[in-house]
Amino acid sequence: MKLAMIGTGYVGLVSGACFAETGNHVICADIDAAKIERLAGGEIPIFEPGLGEMAARNVLQRRLSFSSDVSGAIAESEVICIAVGTPPRSDGAADLHAVDRVAETVAQRVARESVLVIKSTVPVGTNARVRRIVKAATHRIHVVSNPEFLKEGNAIDDFMKPDRIVIGCDDDFFVRDVMSRLYHPVTLSAERIVWMDPASAELTKYVANTMLAMRISFMNEVAALCEKVGADIHLVRQGVGSDERIGSKFLYAGPGFGGSCFPKDVVALVSTARDLGVELDLANTTDRVNRRQKGVLARKLKHVHFDGDLRGKRIAIWGLAFKPRTDDIRESPALQLIDTLLSEGAEVAAHDPEAMPNVQAVYGERITLVEDAYDAAKDADALVLVTEWRQYQNPDFARLMTSMRRPLLLDGRNIWSSYGLRKLGFTYDGIGVRGS
Ligand code: NAD
Repeated sequence: MKLAMIGTGYVGLVSGACFAETGNHVICADIDAAKIERLAGGEIPIFEPGLGEMAARNVLQRRLSFSSDVSGAIAESEVICIAVGTPPRSDGAADLHAVDRVAETVAQRVARESVLVIKSTVPVGTNARVRRIVKAATHRIHVVSNPEFLKEGNAIDDFMKPDRIVIGCDDDFFVRDVMSRLYHPVTLSAERIVWMDPASAELTKYVANTMLAMRISFMNEVAALCEKVGADIHLVRQGVGSDERIGSKFLYAGPGFGGSCFPKDVVALVSTARDLGVELDLANTTDRVNRRQKGVLARKLKHVHFDGDLRGKRIAIWGLAFKPRTDDIRESPALQLIDTLLSEGAEVAAHDPEAMPNVQAVYGERITLVEDAYDAAKDADALVLVTEWRQYQNPDFARLMTSMRRPLLLDGRNIWSSYGLRKLGFTYDGIGVRGS
């Protein structure tokens, strides 16, 4: 099939490459001409494991190309996917400006009966809104809601082996046939497609993300309680998560959830519901708890370890991306920590395997970014682990002990809690763990 992927960010680029890998001819189009130029030159502007190789292979085999001519890509295609950003507006609702713009271009430029697939995360009612926009087109356009569930860091595997594909569309043979064929290679002959109406599909995406976010926020609250009563969140998690009805995933306490999805999607769901007169208290509280949690590392440093005064303290940070295996720093808890440390007069030296260029673009010379993680810890008054990249899992603690000014380890992901670090002479602190 000939396919246009409009918006070549984390979702568009991965989806475009994967659809090309399964035999389609894909044009990835974006209004960001500089990004398209880099892509056309063989450079992948984001870090996502396996994406570079897959994109290169499909470019070579002429199934994948990149263009800043969005109209041209639309005119050539029978399936048009919208994968543009839907960032939060100041009131929390999703900004649909880019989605509307693409829909308007589709209405003007579509050259045949086509399927317009909304992959961006959009509030319930957007499918109907896009249908109104494309109604004026000279060819029939079937509008489908197909929210994307891939996770950065594991995006290709998630796309190629999805738990499910949610498709919201009319009960129309043409559109069902196109969508079935598109996803056939990754869904075991359509077994994993969950067909539904567009409104239910739109809502499914927000409810899934909010449910996962809710589990994290609840465990973060329980971690604070663990600290008060001398319990250990690791043990509580194991005890609770081994109940099959609950399951073990998304039960990890930490410095609050970040990324470009959970924070904005929780707030957008609350906002959509509120506009319709429904108060989603649990979702609202999930967001409130998370905002508070994002200050937990700075609060611990200031009030538990430095007597309320961070001035002149040198704080090392390991991990800046919002999670491992990505360079994405959107809403990363590390950024809030850095902001607080700088405003409190501390010095920051930080390391991340992939996200440093993005962090450099935000902070410039205001923080020190180092290529070797151990250089960040040199002469530090504390080392804070924010993102649990594998390379931080088992560091040379003896080396840290000799190079740090003060042997304080604040483990935001609880990955070192069982390492006997206190016996080695460190002050160890985590999120709701006793530590040893
Ligand atoms: P992104 O910011 O990485 O990429 C969006 C791209 O769209 C950018 O390259 C931008 O230049 C382009 N764009 C904006 N307006 C455009 C227009 N009018 N025409 C063409 N291109 C345009 O965003 P993302 O992380 O890929 O997310 C895209 C959507 O997918 C969002 O709705 C997001 O919530 C959703 N989503 C994201 C993830 C994720 O892990 N990142 C997962 C599932 C769903």
